[in-house]
Amino acid sequence: MHDILIIGGGAAGLTAAIAARAEDPEARVAILERNPRLARKLAATGNGRCNLSHRDCGAALYHCDDRNFIRRALECFDEVATEVFFAGLGITLREDEQGRRYPHSEQAETVVAGLINRARETGIELVAEATAIAAERISETVAGGGSGESAGGGLSSSAGSQMVGGGFRVDTAEGRSLRCRRLVLAGGGAAGLPQAIGFPVYAIAAGFGHRINKLQPVLTQLLAVDPAIQQLRGVRCKAQLSLFADGSLKAVEDGELQLTDRGLSGIAIFDLSRSIKPGAKQIEIVIDLYPEWSETALTEWIYEQRAASPERSWESLLEGMVHKKLAAWLARRYPLREPADLSRLLKGWRMSVSGCAGLDRAQVTRGGVSCREVDPVSLESRLAAELYLVGEMLDVDGPSGGRNLQWAWASGYLAGKAAGRREE
Ligand SMILES: Cc1cc2nc3c(=O)[nH]c(=O)nc-3n(C[C@H](O)[C@H](O)[C@H](O)COP(=O)(O)OP(=O)(O)OC[C@H]3O[C@@H](n4cnc5c(N)ncnc54)[C@H](O)[C@@H]3O)c2cc1C
Repeated sequence: MHDILIIGGGAAGLTAAIAARAEDPEARVAILERNPRLARKLAATGNGRCNLSHRDCGAALYHCDDRNFIRRALECFDEVATEVFFAGLGITLREDEQGRRYPHSEQAETVVAGLINRARETGIELVAEATAIAAERISETVAGGGSGESAGGGLSSSAGSQMVGGGFRVDTAEGRSLRCRRLVLAGGGAAGLPQAIGFPVYAIAAGFGHRINKLQPVLTQLLAVDPAIQQLRGVRCKAQLSLFADGSLKAVEDGELQLTDRGLSGIAIFDLSRSIKPGAKQIEIVIDLYPEWSETALTEWIYEQRAASPERSWESLLEGMVHKKLAAWLARRYPLREPADLSRLLKGWRMSVSGCAGLDRAQVTRGGVSCREVDPVSLESRLAAELYLVGEMLDVDGPSGGRNLQWAWASGYLAGKAAGRREE
């Protein structure tokens, strides 16, 4: 019988385990991880640099199906607490000009090793290649009808006997069966993974009565309607990007636009993807390739260029202003007659989008376990005592810049601390 069993050895699960052991150094804590290696996704974050937090992780930045939940949870564990937590693991952080925080080494492996080493040093059992497929409450009959066991999602009672909480039993796909007093679900989301692998931890949460909000991809590429976009594959440019859906402006982001064989990518596009509601129609990205210039100033400049070299083609003029591949493409596809046509195009290049790339291509999952059924301070289920839910599997997601890992540390830490607390 473990005191605390954690399903999922990623960012939130490892943090929960470390916090639980720190709270109760005597507790028997184990993590079940389906991969041969723990924290595999964490090792790939931030292009291998692990953007683990941000100077601004305010609750208003996050999507959550319960605003009070996210506000309260992030009050209890904020970005300063993250710094303190990593200092405790011997990991120093550095911040870039935009406020994104990384390990000073700029290597995600530093973070992975720091968490796993601390888990090992403190005696946490790390069980790899163990996929939890079912979890049930074990109820013990303590009065009247003698003593016995029955399994089920909740506690029940029958005539002449009383059922009390006896912990949980967790079964794995590999044929193991483990018991624990407290159970933490830290299985992560469905983003960035082949969908064929399946996500049994959502089903486990649902088995305890939890509502699972529809899963959707966020922080992901947008798919262009025009297949000719593939000719621009590899083009990168700084731009201001405005998202319109169903005729109204939804969001604006500045940053690097990356063109791929299927559409638009880059951090600014990822952030815009969070503003696309399911079922939205007529999605359009308006690209301002000259955000620092007014349209009038740009028109005047083009006019002067044309006046100085009247024989120069539009393509040749564009080559001095944007990526060469893009210059040829724009000149070929858009009828340009006068300077104002070109400045309008450069300030308002419109691209129709059919939607977001799938969950397997996304960085983060929107949807998952409803936060309305979870306590924001302890992350304990309001439906099943001594069951905790953390990380991306909850219906919380933040913008890029370290906010999603901040949520993993915050929720993992709060749940671990609560699960490790000994009863008086
Ligand atoms: C390519 C990429 C880059 C990213 N970069 C950043 C970044 O720089 N900054 C940032 O803030 N966020 C980033 N994210 C998002 C971030 O990685 C996640 O939000 C975060 O890892 C969520 O933590 P988690 O512990 O909830 O889930 P995970 O880290 O996914 O961990 C869940 C773990 O549970 C295991 N598991 C699942 N089901 C079972 C089961 N049934 N039994 C046993 N084990 C199970 C999984 O194998 C996994 O190891 C990135 C995501 C991707 C895909």
